Amino acid sequence: MLQQVNAGHKSLADYRSIIRRELYEEIQDLSQRLKGARVLHVNATAFGGGVAEILYTLVPLMRDAGLEAEWGVMLGAEPFFNVTKGFHNALQGAPYNLTIESRAIYEEYNRESAAALARSGKEWDIVFIHDPQPALLKHFSGGLTPETKWIWRCHIDTSTPNEGVLNYLSPYIRDYDAQIYTMKEYTPPDVDLPGLVIIPPAIDPLSPKNMALSTDDARFITNQFGVDPERPFLLQVSRFDPWKDPLGVIDAYRMVKEEVPEVQLVLVGSMAHDDPEGWDYWYKTVNYAAGDSDIFLFSNLTNVGAIEVNAFQSLADVVIQKSIREGFGLVVTEALWKARPLVAGRVGGIPMQVDQGGGILVDNVPEAAAACTKLLKDPEFARRMGRRGKEHVREHYLTPRLLRDDLKLFAELLNV
Ligand code: UDP
Repeated sequence: MLQQVNAGHKSLADYRSIIRRELYEEIQDLSQRLKGARVLHVNATAFGGGVAEILYTLVPLMRDAGLEAEWGVMLGAEPFFNVTKGFHNALQGAPYNLTIESRAIYEEYNRESAAALARSGKEWDIVFIHDPQPALLKHFSGGLTPETKWIWRCHIDTSTPNEGVLNYLSPYIRDYDAQIYTMKEYTPPDVDLPGLVIIPPAIDPLSPKNMALSTDDARFITNQFGVDPERPFLLQVSRFDPWKDPLGVIDAYRMVKEEVPEVQLVLVGSMAHDDPEGWDYWYKTVNYAAGDSDIFLFSNLTNVGAIEVNAFQSLADVVIQKSIREGFGLVVTEALWKARPLVAGRVGGIPMQVDQGGGILVDNVPEAAAACTKLLKDPEFARRMGRRGKEHVREHYLTPRLLRDDLKLFAELLNV
């Protein structure tokens, strides 16, 4: 079997007071129809990034709904992650030289994971594959049983992909019974996807990352990290990655500081196991920030976990997400849910999240700096913005809506 992740326990009943009644009832109805369905989620890591975040909520809620849902992490090691990181970037448009060697590494880990899956002898009604890393599992496992339905979930923007990687992966992806994308605009050009479904992701409002924290508790936590609670701070929470542009955030902060000298900057970044590039970029950012005691860099390796991220997000005077390329941007959803004013790159899923005036979209560093300065100088404007963002998230981007959409797809595929 693949490495199984224990995602804990959650109950849909706990979400009742947060979501609309019709949504709750719709999920109940789908649960009845899908009782006992065996669903396996597979991705490449149990830690770091948006996909793992989602699975920690979705898998227990599917179990609560009566499905036999499990989560397995495929086999992986550094050579494989180097290749799949290259694929990931290439699918988002970066140059990439697809060599015979990289294909061989990619295929070897997929073949071994497929063998591990088969060895377990378990049967599944649905195998739900997340992102490109395990995309060849269907191929190498022969589809397990003729009845098994296969879903491929793409969490990234593949609208301007590197041709070589796209042409290589497309036949495998087309072979799935359903291909889920976050937005229609993210689908690859000129690839016919026979089972295309559009489902945006969501955040869990009750997870330690997003549950309501009192201002006192949030201040108590951030204060312990040396951030002065009496002075404003800008925040970006993101992997250390060129697409998230942490250096651009520092540039913007420096411009803001000319107008608002007391401002601080907090950069929080998780270091994922499947992201070898993260370390290079972390050191690059540390060097870029050098010498400024009002810039704070934290990561999961310096004890900033979910609760601490929550505290920083709950208190930030402005949350920045200066991405240059973005999948959906769950971290934006998290900030909006905490009613924080937001300044974010006009890319990926960000514009649709700030649709109702919950944030300011920017295209470059000077625009980001100007927007932050405006929000710091006009707290009433910032508060109104935060409230609008929160309601938009409540309606569209909380996990029960995602659960409903996934269950609906399962019911269609299994014909129940
Ligand atoms: N995250 C975190 N700690 C960090 C950095 C990121 O917990 O130091 C979380 C963040 O809160 C969010 C997820 O990782 O839930 C990132 O998801 P997103 O869709 O924003 O970006 P991705 O990393 O998947 O491109």
